[in-house]
Amino acid sequence: MNLNSRLNTIVLKIKKMGYSLTPQRLEIIKIISESKNHPSATDVYNKLKELYPMVSLNTVYKNLSMLASLHEVKEIKTMQDSVHYDGDISLHGHAICEKCGKIIDVEINEFDLKGFFETKIKKNLAENYHIRNYGVEFYGLCAYCHKEESPVQPKPRKHSRIPLK
Ligand SMILES: [Zn+2]
Ligand SMILES: [Zn+2]
Repeated sequence: MNLNSRLNTIVLKIKKMGYSLTPQRLEIIKIISESKNHPSATDVYNKLKELYPMVSLNTVYKNLSMLASLHEVKEIKTMQDSVHYDGDISLHGHAICEKCGKIIDVEINEFDLKGFFETKIKKNLAENYHIRNYGVEFYGLCAYCHKEESPVQPKPRKHSRIPLK
């Protein structure tokens, strides 16, 4: 799906849900759907301010969570308790660094995911359960932070035997 049709889809959905389409709102949608690096609300706000200096961060927050509730934007929570947003709603997961918060896209095969769901998940859910959204997140250390982390010193053994003389 190219960007214009993606933008059109979101705009139509917003109108259908009865939301008005202000110029700021349209610009927020443009920024988030064009972004590739999972920006935070502040990142979007800083970009929006170039065009609309009077806009507030709260407006950006409200619009992003509205888009998330429509499943047109994904919210990604990092371990630093900050929320990042992904305008790319195509099937993919995220690897999130617990130390620096870096978010890396992880390719996911639709067939694999479907198989995992059918064999492992579905049987644990009520029969008519309807999935509306999902997220695949891995938490760990990125290559840089893993390298930086100093090696753990081995603890002295607790029950070391006193050598007999
Ligand atoms: Zn890191
Ligand atoms: Zn992503």
